[in-house]
Amino acid sequence: MTAGGRFDRLRLDGVSRRFGGSDALAGLDLTIERGEFITLLGPSGCGKSTALNCLAGLLPLSRGSIWRDETRLDTLPPEQRGFGMVFQNYALFPHMSVRKNIAFGLRMRKVARAAVRRRTDEAIRLVHLEAHADKLPGQLSGGQQQRVAIARAVVVEPSLVLMDEPLSNLDAKLRLEMRTEIRRLHQSLGLTTVYVTHDQEEALSMSDRLVVLRAGRVEQIGTPEQVHTRPANRHIADFMGFRNLLPVRVAGQAGDGVVVDGAGLRLTGSPVGEMRPGDPAVAAIRPEDVRIADQPGGGVEVTVEVVEYQGRELSAEVRTGDGALLHLRTARRLAPKDRIEVVLDPARLLVFPADPGEGGGEP
Ligand code: ATP
Repeated sequence: MTAGGRFDRLRLDGVSRRFGGSDALAGLDLTIERGEFITLLGPSGCGKSTALNCLAGLLPLSRGSIWRDETRLDTLPPEQRGFGMVFQNYALFPHMSVRKNIAFGLRMRKVARAAVRRRTDEAIRLVHLEAHADKLPGQLSGGQQQRVAIARAVVVEPSLVLMDEPLSNLDAKLRLEMRTEIRRLHQSLGLTTVYVTHDQEEALSMSDRLVVLRAGRVEQIGTPEQVHTRPANRHIADFMGFRNLLPVRVAGQAGDGVVVDGAGLRLTGSPVGEMRPGDPAVAAIRPEDVRIADQPGGGVEVTVEVVEYQGRELSAEVRTGDGALLHLRTARRLAPKDRIEVVLDPARLLVFPADPGEGGGEP
């Protein structure tokens, strides 16, 4: 079985959707190449599902257009777009067996009986449900039901598969397994996939490219590595696990780096965006990039306040003499009230311009 349809690229051109007076999605421009796994990522309410539903044809656009190569798609009803869809609630037919659920789309398309049988068997094999083919959905686990939903979507060999938070009802272990499963199917079937999630780890692990949305607008498009190591602004940094976001003020330059002051700290990092001395800024660093100094005098003195056990590592909240709170991760056994010195790795510290109206640290 091969899916993917015959198209080179799908283009969203200024796709917008308004509800009442406000933009749920404002001018989404995106070109998806055949074979890509694209994830729309962002916090609740940022417009991910709106974008997916516009693509699927379930929501009319307020502005913009959607193209598959030279064919305009946004004027076509959903069933003529040739997309497969997988949603969070699997929406299986409860009274039909797994096999019949999967075969349904092929029957609707009047595919010949023998071909329905062959393609359905193949799809069942792909999602490892051979032993369950004659059961009803109610007799399956959540993960198995989600596999039926995926098989049902891909069996018709859609040109594009749309998935809206398909794993959010599953427990943590199943989510991990299904992540790999979806990625494997995407590759082995040569699918083109648009996936929606608010889970950054899921997005990073599965996608070729991420589209990060906030308040209906695209904030960054890039590979998982680009978005992970160099988020385009402080909001994306926050979302991508830069848990330490310190208000600071730009003091000057140091080679390619920027020096900032705030909360009694003088820090060096990489600037993301234009900033001049005196400008308010935000210094961002992940807890795992705040390390305990090797020797006394090697870092900033802090007091440990809260310690959480997290398996191999501890997660700790520490406070500087000037009152700034930092989160760090360490394998060292720490206890509340311990006094330690920490180093904020300059190679991992990013400095973003503060938002307008957002104050920086005291110079
Ligand atoms: P979630 O992860 O919570 O599903 P999302 O990123 O998918 O969020 P959307 O469902 O696309 O977000 O919603 C974007 C914005 O549009 C939200 O502010 C939402 O309240 C609004 N919205 C979505 N659907 C409707 C609707 N049918 N009527 C009115 N407003 C809507």
